[in-house]
Amino acid sequence: MLKGKTALVTGSTSGIGLGIALELARQGASIILNGFGDADGPKAEVAALGVKVGYHGADMSKPDDIAAMVAYAQAEFGGIDILVNNAGIQHVAPVQDFPVEKWDAIIAINLSSAFHTTRLALPGMLAKGWGRIINIASAHGLVASAQKSAYVAAKHGLVGFTKSVALETATTGVTANAICPGWVLTPLVQKQVDALAAKDGVDNDEAKRRLLAEKQPSLQFTTPAELGALAVFLCSDAAINVRGQAWAMDGGWTAV
Ligand code: NAD
Repeated sequence: MLKGKTALVTGSTSGIGLGIALELARQGASIILNGFGDADGPKAEVAALGVKVGYHGADMSKPDDIAAMVAYAQAEFGGIDILVNNAGIQHVAPVQDFPVEKWDAIIAINLSSAFHTTRLALPGMLAKGWGRIINIASAHGLVASAQKSAYVAAKHGLVGFTKSVALETATTGVTANAICPGWVLTPLVQKQVDALAAKDGVDNDEAKRRLLAEKQPSLQFTTPAELGALAVFLCSDAAINVRGQAWAMDGGWTAV
């Protein structure tokens, strides 16, 4: 379904981004990976699906790095057809103790990076008359939790940004939507499981159960592959009129 399209997935050396990259690759899309840590393993996983794969190590907090990555996509892949803004970090602290540098980093990586990739990739999509912008927000783009002020602000901002871009592109072949996952068991969430286990003096399984029970009525983690399947749907022709949505996949978290 996506043969001939190129997808850039930011923050795709791990977790949700890698899961989405794999599902897009299964549909035949060429993939540009991005993120920190080992890139060779994720590259090999994608390449095993028989598609062209590239990697750029742009730091998503740095606008110049982002511009270099989009230039790389243009030079090596002929541009970006599917842009998945996924890179993100978390920090948990009460607002009065929130480290200023953590606030700035979360806003830069979880919110401003999507502005920079979008402003640079959108002209190419409009010129081709087809494009998909998929912003990985969160249940925290729709509702708040204590101690996550920067993350909640960034994710609510990302949902608002998505709506604005969707309106600006409403009469074109480019759509912009957000996906709002609930808990997904990735390294980002495992840190919170570890913190809960230490605080409550319980083991890993019990900490996971408590984490889910607090927010996610299904008591099941959402998986990167499930989120990838939703991204594939948003890339389909059937989704052409899905525009400006913040689509939750959160086990009922935001239904409460
Ligand atoms: P993860 O920690 O497994 O992956 C994050 C990815 O982002 C990694 O590839 C990492 O290298 C990359 N990254 C971090 N900082 C970067 C930077 N400055 N520049 C480039 N890449 C950078 O986390 P995840 O859980 O897969 O999260 C992915 C996205 O999904 C995030 O935006 C997160 O907020 C969102 N999300 C996660 C959950 C969850 O439960 N895990 C729920 C809702 C939303």
